Amino acid sequence: MNHTDCLLCRIVNGDLHARKVIETARIIGVMNDAEPFSKGHIVFFPKRHTLRLNDMDDQDLAEILVVIKRVAAAMKLENYNVLQNNGSLAGQTVFHAHFHLIPKWSDSEGLKYGREFRRELDHGEIYQQVQEALARLAS
Ligand SMILES: [Zn+2]
Repeated sequence: MNHTDCLLCRIVNGDLHARKVIETARIIGVMNDAEPFSKGHIVFFPKRHTLRLNDMDDQDLAEILVVIKRVAAAMKLENYNVLQNNGSLAGQTVFHAHFHLIPKWSDSEGLKYGREFRRELDHGEIYQQVQEALARLAS
């Protein structure tokens, strides 16, 4: 089900032009001409509208990483980031699940992120919660 008010669904439907780098039965990759972090920044998304990674069809999810791998190889990239944001707090601004392939040509181009480790954090409670939820799903 595609959404007429969704930017990426509009590309899927052909209502909005984008420079397609690759298209499969399930996945489209387009040049990020609007807001590139570096030269060759490409956005990949499933044709099927979904909000977050955890809503994605399993086969779409598997295929999108294979497609990204193929394009990264075609670009002969040695340094690059694959970025996938879920939810506005995490930086998602287009609410149709998508992945960014961001070449890192030099230190000043591409994705930049801080490395602020929080070693005082205790994962105990969330670790237990995840283990219990996964055990319930498996049974
Ligand atoms: Zn959409």
